[in-house]
Amino acid sequence: MCKYADEDFNRKHDQPSRIVEALAPAERKEAWRRLGIFPGGIHGEMLFSTSSCLTNVDGYYQSLALKAMRLGIAMAYQSQIINEYCQDILFGIPRPHKMRVDLGVLDPDYVNALPNGHEPFLGFAMVQLARTEEWQSKARASGAKGLRIIANIETGQEMIQRWEMDDALWGFTGNWISQEAVLASGCVDLFACDMNCSMPVDPAYAEKYKFKLLPVSDLVVFDGVADRINYMPEKAAKQAAELLDMAIANYKERRKTVEAVAGLPVTEAVVGFSTESILEALGGSLKPLLGAIKEGAIRGVAGLISCTTLRDHGNDAHSVAVAKELIKRDILVLSMGCGNAAMQVAGLCSPGAADLAGPGLKGLCRSLGIPPVLSYGTCTDTGRLADLLAAISKELGGVPVADLPVAAVAPEYMEQKATIDAVFALAFGLYTYVNPVPTVTGGPDLVRLLTQDLPGVTGGLLSVEKDAVKAVDGIAAAIEERRKRLGI
Ligand code: SF4
Repeated sequence: MCKYADEDFNRKHDQPSRIVEALAPAERKEAWRRLGIFPGGIHGEMLFSTSSCLTNVDGYYQSLALKAMRLGIAMAYQSQIINEYCQDILFGIPRPHKMRVDLGVLDPDYVNALPNGHEPFLGFAMVQLARTEEWQSKARASGAKGLRIIANIETGQEMIQRWEMDDALWGFTGNWISQEAVLASGCVDLFACDMNCSMPVDPAYAEKYKFKLLPVSDLVVFDGVADRINYMPEKAAKQAAELLDMAIANYKERRKTVEAVAGLPVTEAVVGFSTESILEALGGSLKPLLGAIKEGAIRGVAGLISCTTLRDHGNDAHSVAVAKELIKRDILVLSMGCGNAAMQVAGLCSPGAADLAGPGLKGLCRSLGIPPVLSYGTCTDTGRLADLLAAISKELGGVPVADLPVAAVAPEYMEQKATIDAVFALAFGLYTYVNPVPTVTGGPDLVRLLTQDLPGVTGGLLSVEKDAVKAVDGIAAAIEERRKRLGI
């Protein structure tokens, strides 16, 4: 399978991707071929789009927008779905289970090793070691009560969706912005930083709060941090042992010199929903969910895929407000990305949150024992969501994606990956709500294309709105319009 994926990634721009051919809904493939945006290999597509963006190369907004969508399609099916499938093969398909979440998972009396970023491989390897008596007794020999691996941001989401909590994988802190609070808690011994979302300011925290800050990917570099362990798959166990040795060696000095904060809030969320586990929860078929949608108990489904940003609102405030408004209107939410951490910490991924949902959604949650916001993983699970929508479209007899009562929702997008996720959602034919206002307002033609004309192109539509209630008014109206098109 790796060979097949590798060959596909390396297909040229003009050689159609076999992965997209195998996974995308037939109606979407036809639309993408018609628009000339059926992609080749992801590497070729990246080369083609970045070359197009150079000065005086492609000067036509429509063409650039279509090229961005083409890149988005390649990204969702090749980078994202394959990444998630491979992690499922290696570490297990996510299945619902409880997980401790929020800053209270940090206890200063333990050796706390925190993998951070988007790639969970060394994090999983550390958990495997921390689950052995050998490593727990090493930690105790340093004066600590034991050794804990604490999951953070998307590396953490990948881990907690798949593996159950126990004394070694203790819990999950939160999103990328809560990283500063995590580091200033005085509870951290090791912050191991893979691919992204570790901040340039982290070395200042490491100096003040006496923890080992270590890049574990050659992509990650900090000013003034010379030590590193670049992750190599075949050496993962050895590298994880080196990391845990560093964490344990750090403990005594930290406890001696840093005043730690203890007793921060902690709650429990249900995590680990995937297409497979949703099907299992529904008794092996999508029919109960589709039945609830057809009857109107659930008006539709929103895929909330978001980062976190302080640009317009406080940390996660807008994401939580949007999600609460959605469930109040009987719209089931599947959450991904740092926005998923927002949902978990706010208690919306707990069965008790059904009380905040409208009567129809509340009834479904109660009968299935699920929360109204399903923790569906990371921002790289957008591809997995497309896969679920393809299954729904097929179950309904090949209904075009643009006619399904679903929407993509990014209340606090920030990173480039979130931008390309939104671009993919538009190519996929989804009503796509984003906030903050993207940096496209200097191009009125492009704004018109994305916010008005796109339904006649891909079926998607971009919605921009700072107010949570007005944003959900738009999402709900789009869902109702699609219900009408389906005759339900
Ligand atoms: S969801 Fe966004 S902010 Fe969070 S780790 Fe991923 S890219 Fe970074």
